Amino acid sequence: MEAKAAVINEPRAKFDLENIKLDTELGPNDILVKIVATGLCHTDLIMRDEFFPFPKPAVFGHEGSGVVVKTGNAVTKVAEGDHVVMAPASCGECENCVKGHPSYCLNFMELNFGGHPTDGTCPYHNHEGKEMGAGFFGQSSFANFSLVKENNVVKVDKDIPLELLGPLGCGIQTGSGTVLNFLKAGPGDSILVVGVGAVGLSAIMAAKLAGCTTIIAADIHDNRLELAKELGATHTVNSKNQSLTEFVRSEINPDGVMYGFDTTGRNNVISDAMGAVRTMGHMAIVIVAADKLELDANVIQGGKSISFVNEGDSTPDDYIPRLIRLYKAGLFPFDKLVKYYEFDEFNQAVEDSEKGTTIKAIIKMPH
Ligand SMILES: [Zn+2]
Ligand SMILES: [Zn+2]
Repeated sequence: MEAKAAVINEPRAKFDLENIKLDTELGPNDILVKIVATGLCHTDLIMRDEFFPFPKPAVFGHEGSGVVVKTGNAVTKVAEGDHVVMAPASCGECENCVKGHPSYCLNFMELNFGGHPTDGTCPYHNHEGKEMGAGFFGQSSFANFSLVKENNVVKVDKDIPLELLGPLGCGIQTGSGTVLNFLKAGPGDSILVVGVGAVGLSAIMAAKLAGCTTIIAADIHDNRLELAKELGATHTVNSKNQSLTEFVRSEINPDGVMYGFDTTGRNNVISDAMGAVRTMGHMAIVIVAADKLELDANVIQGGKSISFVNEGDSTPDDYIPRLIRLYKAGLFPFDKLVKYYEFDEFNQAVEDSEKGTTIKAIIKMPH
């Protein structure tokens, strides 16, 4: 079938809005989804810039939401017409999947970043008939139709705007899940969240939900800090000119905070934030931007731990409906992070996200 997609033909180039061809002969566990909208995430942009190799031309996108059009004959989880959010692909069979940690699926790399199905077929071709890299995070949602597997669709309620829900599949579960599922912050705890884009703001909302009583937001943009306050931060600090270690230890608590959460991936920032984490405290990071993670030795002493967390360590089939219930109850207002764009404004959405004027861009797909 014909589909429309935002395609990366060359590394670091703009997205080209093109017609592509999808092979919709479905295997037993395949699902064809009509994409209603997709979030734009940092990982799409670093992959555009060749963070690691991915076959081009490429269809990225991994925060899709849509409606099931057709299912393979072994699919039981969803049926035609169901509303779904797509989460990263996982095998469902390896040791980590079986233990309920699909974000750490032992086959995560090939299933999400391999560029082609593992059976050697290529169901995506461009308008010239050239094979395309797709199946990005098991979904390639920068197209108006997507081929996904039963394992990475999550059925969602129909009484909530479907176009809002895609980012629950990555950025929002990453931020909130790291606080709730992984760090397991609780009532009366203290946390420092560094970098309050979509992931960091989701962490702030989660910390509030968990009953944390000291929630410090750090960023270099004052407008983001304002929003952090609105969503639950008890303190804010513009880290452009101020050390986080110093701010926390002199103005909040000389012992430091129980938890840290870094979304910047920068060595000097992580090191500074680690200095604000107290003895036996725990720091979670979700990205390392440099080739090496380097920390000052004095900030990692005293039984502190540091962990790299994928996708909030969540089990999407359980966690995404949970976030939707919280949203409906007014306890998790993630719609405040969102700005919508039409498909022909795709590159504008990218530009605004890179400038930081838009926190979470959602692009509506044409039909
Ligand atoms: Zn697995
Ligand atoms: Zn993402």
